[in-house]
Amino acid sequence: MNYFSTRSLQKTGAAGAIAKGLAPDGGLFVPEQIPSISLDDLRQLCALDYRSRAVKIMGLYLEEFASAELEQFAASAYGAQFDDPAVAPVKSLNENTSFLELWYGPTCAFKDMALQMLPHLLTASLKKTGETRQVCILVATSGDTGKAALQGFADVPGTKIMVFYPHGGVSDVQRLQMVTQQGQNVGVSAVNGNFDDAQTGVKQIFGDAAMAERLSERGWFLSSANSINWGRLLPQIVYYISAYCDEVNAGRITMGEKINFVVPTGNFGNILAGWYAKQMGLPVNRFVCASNENNVLTEFIRTGTYNKNRPFHVTASPSMDILVSSNLERLLFTLSGSAPETDGYMRALREQGQYTVSAALLEKLQAEFSCGFCDDERTRAAIGRVWAEHHYLMDTHTAVAYQVLEDYRAETGDQTPAVVVSTASPFKFCDHVLRAVGGNADAPGVQLIDRLSETTGIPAPAPLAGLDQREVRFGSVVEKEAMPQAVESFLA
Ligand SMILES: *Cc1c(COP(=O)(O)O)cnc(C)c1O
Repeated sequence: MNYFSTRSLQKTGAAGAIAKGLAPDGGLFVPEQIPSISLDDLRQLCALDYRSRAVKIMGLYLEEFASAELEQFAASAYGAQFDDPAVAPVKSLNENTSFLELWYGPTCAFKDMALQMLPHLLTASLKKTGETRQVCILVATSGDTGKAALQGFADVPGTKIMVFYPHGGVSDVQRLQMVTQQGQNVGVSAVNGNFDDAQTGVKQIFGDAAMAERLSERGWFLSSANSINWGRLLPQIVYYISAYCDEVNAGRITMGEKINFVVPTGNFGNILAGWYAKQMGLPVNRFVCASNENNVLTEFIRTGTYNKNRPFHVTASPSMDILVSSNLERLLFTLSGSAPETDGYMRALREQGQYTVSAALLEKLQAEFSCGFCDDERTRAAIGRVWAEHHYLMDTHTAVAYQVLEDYRAETGDQTPAVVVSTASPFKFCDHVLRAVGGNADAPGVQLIDRLSETTGIPAPAPLAGLDQREVRFGSVVEKEAMPQAVESFLA
């Protein structure tokens, strides 16, 4: 199967798309056609475990990869480093609400679902495309991607990885997870600015032809582990289909019955993977796009105007503190069917910081997506309420989605069974969660992990234990203009 760039229809195979990350014209790669699955296929997937579901579903998009190869990838990506044998279990809250828990991986957030798989896909793609240079992965992170990418690529032969995070813009636990990362091939630096500054900086480095030339002479090329890489998105399609199968297996829905997914959204990567699953034939009624106070997507889905010229809020759900949702470009391309139209919107975003989609596109968007947002106060209230009523503990991102689901149901009366996509362990954001369940959070974040465990009787995930005793290896803070220099020295 071929992949197109959203901006110019340049084509490449799956391995080429994954190896490149971003298309040479600055666009994102999208599949030429979306493979379909029937209810019969779904029935067969119901009988399989998570790894085998991943092999079958990813294989539909990766013709250049043998299924034995994918089996090996799935076995090592979703092996013992996952704390739950189901890998991505679904837990039910009441008769029409469930949580898809995506945080049993080594960094306790959903990014592991893709970033445990990506190094396998990427190193194999490089071989298949005949690449002889070594790859340096560059990542801009709002918190969780950075650690998950470091963990996925640490000591992978033929690779290096450099992560930039916004100084003061990630949680205490997230920062410590990154700056204590082990591995000979890893680098981490804070950037003076917010996530969008870091992401823009990384995109500029990718677009710098002179720098690419210099690095190439030294045997290096740059690639991305951000969710702009198709190899990040593809593994995420799997868990939407897997969750549907689990709901059927549990007898909570019948095969073919439609469900809703509610997704806490930042860069639009997670929810977009769900939308691909629906295009494949998964019976989904609506996707509800949940935002925090950085509600640029709520406004976009309601009005058709995407406007990033607005105050940036640092919230209790920092992995969603994003004003430029990169993956939206893929959706705009597929809904409009036009590379020039997509390119026009993206140019307007770069030049004016905003764009308004056509009425036809807005109609298509609203036919599949609903939306809502939730501020920190209501987020914490939702955590406290669900804990008190159901003894179920949500992290702040999941709680944003849960509250938006309640608002959506109240507003629309839609009682379709809903799966809330749960994106992080509550222990990762323990200060807010502890306060929300009535605890005292007057100590640094990492010390609160044990306190949250004592208060709730839930054991803390092993990867978060002893974080404050680990050696801090990376302390640098750079200006955003100095990011290219930091990369050049890292590869010197
Ligand atoms: C990254 C992240 C999100 C947002 O996901 P996108 O794919 O960027 O929309 C939500 N919650 C958590 C915990 C995350 O780490």
